Amino acid sequence: MRIDKLLANSGFGSRREVKELLKRKVVFVDEQVVINPKVHVDTATQVVRVEDEVVTYEPFVYVMLNKPQNVVSATSDELDATVVDLLDPYFASREVFPVGRLDKDTEGLVLLTNNGKLAHKLLTPKSHVMKEYIATIDQPVTEDDIAAFAAGVTLDDGYLTKPAILSIPNTEQATEIVVCISEGKFHQIKRMFEAVGKKVVYLKRTKIGSLDLDESLELGQSRRLTNDELEALL
Ligand code: URA
Repeated sequence: MRIDKLLANSGFGSRREVKELLKRKVVFVDEQVVINPKVHVDTATQVVRVEDEVVTYEPFVYVMLNKPQNVVSATSDELDATVVDLLDPYFASREVFPVGRLDKDTEGLVLLTNNGKLAHKLLTPKSHVMKEYIATIDQPVTEDDIAAFAAGVTLDDGYLTKPAILSIPNTEQATEIVVCISEGKFHQIKRMFEAVGKKVVYLKRTKIGSLDLDESLELGQSRRLTNDELEALL
């Protein structure tokens, strides 16, 4: 890999900033000063250092974001802010993308990575990865709705959903529910409630597979996944 790409991908600034860094003669490959941005390095065998700091290359990065409303799950958009816009610019430079989509008006857990293999594993219908949401519904949810979701409901396009687990944590407040689905059809939760004559008025994703939304993240905040979170997902 070119030294300028390695340094930019390791958090040492943009390609332009990295070029300046190289000019300052503070970058070493196996203890030799390197000033040419085109020099190739082998990260497996060579030691790269910037001043006193050894550069550790991370091929993939993983971030969780607590998505607010009015932000789209895309990497670029002409009109709206995107989930990538909310991250530290370093992650955009690493070309992360959201693993699956949340609607513009849905809040909560978005996983972003540049690891296409992991994204595929989490998204492929074959993996049956469970996604958990909390929602507010316009009218109380009933035992019949719970049974209907468990059996699968027929959406407006005729698709019969896979069994979903609907629960009412507090029966005195039966408009506040938790729902788990193992697929990701377009507007799936909203359309499942429409199928039983109800409307979702608030929706938040709280879990993707083993990954829980860190509730200490304010809306719009993000953080890297911990090693344990990542190992559980991979
Ligand atoms: N289901 C929906 O209807 N919307 C989302 O954003 C996610 C799941």
